[in-house]
Amino acid sequence: MYRIIFILILLTVLYFLLRSAIREFKGRGASGRLPVDKDQMVQDPVCHVFVPRGTAVTEVIGGQTYCFCSRGCAATFQKRMTG
Ligand SMILES: [Zn+2]
Repeated sequence: MYRIIFILILLTVLYFLLRSAIREFKGRGASGRLPVDKDQMVQDPVCHVFVPRGTAVTEVIGGQTYCFCSRGCAATFQKRMTG
């Protein structure tokens, strides 16, 4: 009986440790300012150029968010998607 309680406590401790570890990992670099990392490099699906997320042109097409280097690329992609 005591063993079950011990395992439960162990699992709870593990859960909290894991949660704080994940939070620390996510907060690294962004330092908890924004959930989206502005410095993260994203690739333009049209011209395949890498742009920082903070300066990229984002467009939601078909429920998915895409990042582009310019409005022109976004328009090209949209045209491509819609036919
Ligand atoms: Zn582009």
